[in-house]
Amino acid sequence: MNQAMNKDLHDLSVLALSAHLRDKKISAVEAAQHFLTRSRAHSQLGAYLAMNEDVTLAQARAADARLAAGTGGTLEGVPMAHKDIFVTKDFPTTAGSKILEGYNSPFDSTVVANFQREGVVCLGKLNCDEFAMGSSNENSAYAPARNPWDTSRIPGGSSGGSAVAVAARLAPAVTGTDTGGSIRQPASFCGITGIKPTYGRASRYGMVAFASSLDQAGPMARSAEDCALLLSAMCGPDLDRDSTSLDMPAEDFSRSLTQSVDGLRIGVPKEFFGDGLSADVRAAIDNALKEYEKLGAKLVPIELPRTELSIPVYYIIAPAEASSNLSRFDGVKFGHRSKNYRDLSEMYRESRTEGFGDEVKRRIMIGAYVLSHGYYDAYYLQAQKIRRMIADDFQQAFKVCDVIAGPVAPTVAWHLGDHGNDPLADYLADIFTLPASLAGLPGMSVPVGLGEGGMPVGMQLIGNYFSEAKLLGAAHQLQLATDWHLAKPATV
Ligand code: GLN
Repeated sequence: MNQAMNKDLHDLSVLALSAHLRDKKISAVEAAQHFLTRSRAHSQLGAYLAMNEDVTLAQARAADARLAAGTGGTLEGVPMAHKDIFVTKDFPTTAGSKILEGYNSPFDSTVVANFQREGVVCLGKLNCDEFAMGSSNENSAYAPARNPWDTSRIPGGSSGGSAVAVAARLAPAVTGTDTGGSIRQPASFCGITGIKPTYGRASRYGMVAFASSLDQAGPMARSAEDCALLLSAMCGPDLDRDSTSLDMPAEDFSRSLTQSVDGLRIGVPKEFFGDGLSADVRAAIDNALKEYEKLGAKLVPIELPRTELSIPVYYIIAPAEASSNLSRFDGVKFGHRSKNYRDLSEMYRESRTEGFGDEVKRRIMIGAYVLSHGYYDAYYLQAQKIRRMIADDFQQAFKVCDVIAGPVAPTVAWHLGDHGNDPLADYLADIFTLPASLAGLPGMSVPVGLGEGGMPVGMQLIGNYFSEAKLLGAAHQLQLATDWHLAKPATV
C-alpha cells in the first residue's frame, strides 16, 4: 500500500474501498489496522463499547486469504462496526445496558452473519442508548457518545455511536437499528446517510428487542450509493427465525441508482413544516427541495394529518412492547444478578433495579400501565387504532406522490445535558420520524447542509412499502448533483 492511500483510506467510500481490496491495492489487514488505530485515537468520542484487535485482525487475515484465492464475497475485507444491539459471537453484547454487562452471545445475529458471509471484517461494537431507548445516546449506561462536529453536542440516538463512527471516519460503514427514528435522526445530526428499510426486510433475529412491531435494522454510511450496497448484503428472508421476516427474495437495492428524478413527484407534508420546525433546518430542507426541482422533480403539497398523534401513539405502543420484551432480563438466564436477595422474587427485583437505567424503568412502568386490565382499552387499543389511521394517511398521500420529503428532526443536534431530566423534550423531537416507523415504511436521512452552530441537517425521504431502491436512487441523484454528503467535521 502506498503512503498517500494510507492517509486517505478512511475517506474512501465502501465502494472504492472494496474495489481497492479486490485489486490488491490494499489488504484487509491494512484496512482493519488503519480503522482500529483511528478508532483508538478518537476514543474520547465514545463511539465504541467493545473492540478486540485480535479478533478483528484474524477476520481480516481470513478475508485476505479469500481475496487471494478469488473467492471473496461482495464486501470482502471491508471493515464495519455494529451497533451493540446486534448479538455477536466474537464480541460481547450489552445493548448499552449494565444488565447485560459481560454477556457473550453463543451466536451471531442474522444481520451480522449476512455481512460476514459477504466478507465484512468486524471492528467492534458501537455505543447506543440503553436498549435503543433514547434520542441522544445519553441513556447509554456506559458513556455518552459525542458529536464529532462539536463534541459538546449529542450525536443523536439511539444509534449514536454508529453515526459518530461514520462521521469521524472510524469505520466506513456501520449498522444501526431504528424503532422510532434511531437510524435517521443520528444520521441527520452527524451529517451522514442512513436508511431504515420496510419493516420485515432485515431479520430481527439476534437484535436485542425493544419494540418488536417497530424494530428494524439498517445501514449507515456516507452516501446513498454505499447504503444501497450494504442494504443488499444485509436483507433477505429469515422465515425460520423471525416470524415477521418478509417472504421476499434478497434484492439488489442499487438497481435504481442511475434513474433520473426527472418527473419524480415529491410529496411535501404541510405538517412537517409547522411552527415547531427551526428556521435553519427549514432553510436547508427548502434548499434541497429546490435542487430536486432543478433536477426535474415536481413538488406536491400533501397532508399527513395525524403527524402529531404519532408521539402519544408511539410512546404507548413502544413501551408496551418493551415492558413485555424486557421481562426476560430477570437475573436468571443472562446478565446481571444481584447479590442482595433472600428469595426468588427479591432476586428478580434487585437484579432489575440494579441493572436497568432510569429511562428503561420509566418505559417498563408506562408499558405495564397501558397494558393493565383497567387501561388497556383506553390506551393500548386506542393507540393501535390510530396507528392504523397513520398508515392509511400515508397510503392516501402515495396516491399523488412517489416519495415524501421533509425534515428528520425539528432542530440540529442539541448540547449534552440540554434535555436534562425532561424525557418529554426528547420524545417531542421524534415527531417527524415516528410516523414512518408506525406505518412500517422505509425512510432515510440524507445530509443537506449545515444549520445553527455549523451542525449538519438531514432531509428525510419516506417511500411506500418495498420502495427502498427508489428512495436510494432519489438520494443518490441528489448526491451526484450536490456535495453536502462530502462535508466533514473540521477535526477529522
Ligand atoms: N427516540 C425514540 C425512542 O426513544 C426512538 C428510538 C429508536 O428508534 N430506537 O424510543
